[in-house]
Amino acid sequence: MPFRLRLTLLFAGLAILLFATVSLAIYFSFTASLEEELDRKLVPRGESMAVRIEILGDQVSAPPNFGKSGMEGRLEAVFSPEGKVLLAAQEVDAQALAPDFTLLIRLSSGQRVVLNLRSDEGTALRVVYFPLVGDGTVVGVLASAVSRESADQSEASLRTSLLLANLVLLFVSLLVGMLLARSVLRPVERMRRVAEQISLQDLQKRLAYSGPRDELFALAQTFDSMLERLDQAVRQDKAFFAESSHELRTPLTVIQGNIELALRDPFTPAEELRATLQTVKGETEGMARIVADLLFLARSDAQALELVQDDVPLRVLVEETAARLVPLAREKGVTLEVESGEEAAVRGDRGLLARMLRNLGENGVRYNHPGGWVRFRLTRRQGEALLVVEDIGLGIPAEELPHLFTRFFRGVEAKRQDPRGTGLGLAIVAEITRRHGGRVEVESRLGEGSCFTVHLPRIMGTD
Ligand code: ADP
Repeated sequence: MPFRLRLTLLFAGLAILLFATVSLAIYFSFTASLEEELDRKLVPRGESMAVRIEILGDQVSAPPNFGKSGMEGRLEAVFSPEGKVLLAAQEVDAQALAPDFTLLIRLSSGQRVVLNLRSDEGTALRVVYFPLVGDGTVVGVLASAVSRESADQSEASLRTSLLLANLVLLFVSLLVGMLLARSVLRPVERMRRVAEQISLQDLQKRLAYSGPRDELFALAQTFDSMLERLDQAVRQDKAFFAESSHELRTPLTVIQGNIELALRDPFTPAEELRATLQTVKGETEGMARIVADLLFLARSDAQALELVQDDVPLRVLVEETAARLVPLAREKGVTLEVESGEEAAVRGDRGLLARMLRNLGENGVRYNHPGGWVRFRLTRRQGEALLVVEDIGLGIPAEELPHLFTRFFRGVEAKRQDPRGTGLGLAIVAEITRRHGGRVEVESRLGEGSCFTVHLPRIMGTD
């Protein structure tokens, strides 16, 4: 069922339920007050009559005004405790008022009983029965009745009016509900139309909802900010794609150029051919590195990278990483130091954690001066293991710091010092850290060195 129809029906249903309840309350309080009015005509006279009636066997002596009230439709009769008529005004259809067996039982307790009856001619009556007591026992019953005709007519006409009013209200509330639903859903419909026009190719459109600051406003804002994030993600993806193609095209051009040059002269000396092959080898190695890094990031983005879950003691990992970096450090004239800190273990993928440490260590060595140092330190803080890789190398200018972990970003100075970088190393560090529930912090000053700190959740009690 469409939401608009549901809203309309809900509104109309609630309105009619409320009105019907009020109508019933009005109707019942009206009938109660009508009956009270009738009882006020019956009870005082009946009570005064009851004390003045005397019964001796089947003989009844009643005041002279018995059965002559002057009020139209009033009836009075006296019955024996067995329900036999003892005395009745002439015009009274006394038999219609005769108390039956159950009524007689109720009356025998001495309490009066009020009833609505219908006479043999079909006249509706309100009757009050008074038990007549003599010597402590019930010796007879006085029935005093009036016609309910006019009260019934009033009740019937009120019933008709209320019913009509309810029908009119049902119609009106359906109409109002429809208008209300339409006005409530108008902004939603507008949002739907804008959303329909948005596609992956065109994520610039926004709902830009300008209504009052209500729930719909909040929904539109959430939708717009989701579009913003989506737009950004798609733009990043496109930039990443363009950068990747560019990074791969450069070595391919070099390879192609070298091969063409070598093929042009059929008498190229073997030495030159060898040199060409060396260049091609270097470039293909670089390409293979880029492709491997891209593949890693793409698989991680697509949640296709399964992490092995092992308990990994970090001290050994730090020592092994430093040992592997020794040849590179020696080549650059940089000293490697491992501070004998505390042991800490984390849960995760040993291979990936080693790769993360290697990337950080490699950067420390590559962006350093001959005679400089890179220091690894492992410490614990509350529930965290802290892996610190510090160097006294080039340092990073403040304006480059926010971009360090962006894919393909390379610092100006770093590019000059080592043109063969890919700009993916720190992006991979950030991704591995994130997948292990941690984060990376960097502090650096140009010309003074850098300090990268990886925070990882520690396994407590196993260190
Ligand atoms: P790459 O090293 O291939 O350039 P990375 O993602 O590893 O890519 O690093 C991105 C940039 O961050 C580097 O180009 C460099 O500008 C800067 N950087 C990273 N580590 C260091 C460091 N230890 N010292 C100075 N600059 C660094």
